[in-house]
Amino acid sequence: MFGGNVATLVLYNGIIHTLDKDRPTVNSLVISNGVVTYIGNDISTNLREYSDAEIIDLSGRTILPGLRDAHAHMKSFGKIDLQANLTEAQSLEEVAEIIREYAQKASKGEWVLGRGWNHERWNDRSLPTHERLSKAAPDNPVFLTRVDGHAGLVNDYALKFAKIDSNTKSPYGGLIVLGNDGPTGILVDTAMKLITDHITEPNLDETKSILITAQERCIAAGLVEIHDAGISETELAAYRSMAQDGSLKIRIYAMLKRDFFETTTMTPFKIGNLSCRSVKIVSDGALGSRGAAMLEPYSDAKEESGFMLLRNDRFRTVALKAFAEGFQVNVHAIGDKANRITLDVIESCLKETPILEHRSRIEHAQIVSLQDIPRFKTLGIIASIQQTHCTSDMNMAEARLGADRMKGAYPWRKFINAGVVIAGGSDFPVENHNPLWGIYSAVTRQDHEGNPPEGWYSDERMTINEALHSFTLGPAYASFEETNYGPLSPGKAADLVILDRDILKGDPNQILKTNVLATLINGKVVFNTMPELECITQT
Ligand SMILES: [Zn+2]
Repeated sequence: MFGGNVATLVLYNGIIHTLDKDRPTVNSLVISNGVVTYIGNDISTNLREYSDAEIIDLSGRTILPGLRDAHAHMKSFGKIDLQANLTEAQSLEEVAEIIREYAQKASKGEWVLGRGWNHERWNDRSLPTHERLSKAAPDNPVFLTRVDGHAGLVNDYALKFAKIDSNTKSPYGGLIVLGNDGPTGILVDTAMKLITDHITEPNLDETKSILITAQERCIAAGLVEIHDAGISETELAAYRSMAQDGSLKIRIYAMLKRDFFETTTMTPFKIGNLSCRSVKIVSDGALGSRGAAMLEPYSDAKEESGFMLLRNDRFRTVALKAFAEGFQVNVHAIGDKANRITLDVIESCLKETPILEHRSRIEHAQIVSLQDIPRFKTLGIIASIQQTHCTSDMNMAEARLGADRMKGAYPWRKFINAGVVIAGGSDFPVENHNPLWGIYSAVTRQDHEGNPPEGWYSDERMTINEALHSFTLGPAYASFEETNYGPLSPGKAADLVILDRDILKGDPNQILKTNVLATLINGKVVFNTMPELECITQT
């Protein structure tokens, strides 16, 4: 099991928060063959019983159950370094300068790709247009996705290449933004497909290496499982191959992309660390690009109320196919209209095909009409939320939504009070992948500078235990794995993280300063900085 052929590992003299109801905090833990076999406080007197085991003195370090991200995008994350990173750009001019350099290094006609721009952080907060970009890169097609992945900016070369002009019709669920001189270069939601269809996707081997890059970053951050939210046939094949050749160290709960799922017949399966039994349906856009479908117009754009990306009948057809084939239905819904329609569609599908343990999920569930919150519980729908979205969006959200709708915005406390299961995540690379940042956002509703001082709509904050739950037991339940994963109880998989401080104690600021020292998955050390663990670290 271990690099040093040790079947049993004893960790003692630590602060071990198990999330086990009966024994929430202990100082010792024993792992045998990848499974937790003991938790308690009396092992130091019995160490002789473990003469065949590897015995590690934790010297007061903290152990938590391994952290799970219920919504993220591994391929986009692993690809970050292959594209221009625009997250720090403070203006369109800066974006254009970065792209000029990339274009100079590219050969003529080669695609220049970038991601992460966010006009909400610029002085000029109107949606950018293509002119500067077209000047900076006249000889290359350029496609730059917004930070949320729900809008793209292209240059003139790309518009011409894809034959997009004033006469091109916006596809259903998308928008080609037009100005006085034709397309502005902004393509929202499904309209991006007019461009992405022309860009060659990485092949199987390239995809594997991209996923491995992402995996290494995740395990170094204490993550033991990622729910990959919307994967293609190639990504699934890459994961399958990694699960078979042993290079998949992290657990992956795969959500298949809707268009892939629609054209395939598959039964749910599990190979090694890969589990495949859910489909991701995108019902609306995002708040930043005003694509989130709202019941009432946006407060800062009275003529807009977002849009649904999928017609209801098609939505129903996919959901029914998923239920019939034993797949879980995970629906991206950000606006209150998208959330309501999703609840309606799932309710009507369940009437037609009653399933007790469907565990359908609404991904994001960001702005929910107050009357719809109890329906999550009644229908058995999980709220799969990303706490850092709240603290990144807080300034923009209030402008978009107005004071009244804020009552149902990022309504974590209301979900918890209604008895709704919450699975936490980050949506990386939209947000940082560090799960401790998510836990910090959950308990503070503040940015990293501590603003606003009292927390943003602080009634909706989570306790530290609820936040931890959302990054451990919540995702385990949301992937039908609560009997195997979650708390550090005897019989559960030994997925855990060792930290340099106890995040349950002291100021929440400590959470941001916490370092991950080691990550174990199935009892195997997959990431390690501790000399004491070197003897059993896999290479
Ligand atoms: Zn996402």
